[in-house]
Amino acid sequence: MSLRSRLALLFFSGLAAAALDATEIVWPTTMERPAERAPADFLQPTVSGRTESALFGMVREDGRRFHEGIDIRPVRTNADGEPLDLVLAAMDGQVAYLNTDVNGPYGRYVVLFHAAAELPVYSLYAHLAKVEPSLRPGKPLRRGTPIGLMGRTSAGASPITKDRAHLHFEVGLILSTGFNLWYARQPDNRGSPNHHGLYNGQNLIGLDPLPLLRQSRVDLLAAVRSQPTALTVGLRTKGTPDFVKRYPALVRGEAAGAAGWYVEFSWQGMPVRWTALAADSPQLPAARWRLLEIDPRQRERLIQRKMLGEKGGAGELLQQNVEILLSTTR
Ligand SMILES: [Zn+2]
Repeated sequence: MSLRSRLALLFFSGLAAAALDATEIVWPTTMERPAERAPADFLQPTVSGRTESALFGMVREDGRRFHEGIDIRPVRTNADGEPLDLVLAAMDGQVAYLNTDVNGPYGRYVVLFHAAAELPVYSLYAHLAKVEPSLRPGKPLRRGTPIGLMGRTSAGASPITKDRAHLHFEVGLILSTGFNLWYARQPDNRGSPNHHGLYNGQNLIGLDPLPLLRQSRVDLLAAVRSQPTALTVGLRTKGTPDFVKRYPALVRGEAAGAAGWYVEFSWQGMPVRWTALAADSPQLPAARWRLLEIDPRQRERLIQRKMLGEKGGAGELLQQNVEILLSTTR
């Protein structure tokens, strides 16, 4: 091969790699992408007035309450003070779920699924005043397509006042297609039906969307993988968890023949790395699952997030997420 054709090959394989590891992403409202501006210019804080309260993380109630996305404020309002900003699909994808009733904390919300991203993620748009009427589950959408009108709908404990209207925006992963089975088995859920199926917030686990939105091209697999391990768990499984099948890029080892899994969780409860365990592995628990290791530097935040209990051991959220993840493996 001549030097020139070798150079051409290098050039084109470079282009192909760039195209493969980048998903184009747009700001999810009709505000210009605030790449250079301070967070206070585009975020909508809680009644506390603190800008941090609109960010992702343990940002509420003095660090005791988790916020799974970011809250984006309107830039235009009508004469009544209600937002005029449109809400836009952040990435190419398709409609996964539409909730047009105000029957939960998210109010009217839309979930999109982005199957072509490096990792098939969902994005979620909540508190909408209106959902674009032409949307149907399965409908393909280009990034930047309007999907609704920004609002303040919510059936949560405290209503969202007009001056605090915002888009709640999330990006993340789906824990399990067995969620509905798990939900129906919980004694606490008797009398409170699951209106949202697999798109119930308990089955969605988000990562910080702001670093993604700051750029115009992102690698979602790299973003998920960049989250450090906060604790690890050993699972004993009969079948393969559907999470492993849906996100094979997060998995090491062979699912066929695995006796269980060594799972590394991020502090907020995302199972970011899975390693197949052989039947004689010391990490394989005797029972269904066991907490194995904790990063001591993250202990406090893990307790606040209820990934750990106050006295050590597995917390409520870790138990819940593990049981949801195991719901298809019985
Ligand atoms: Zn929010």
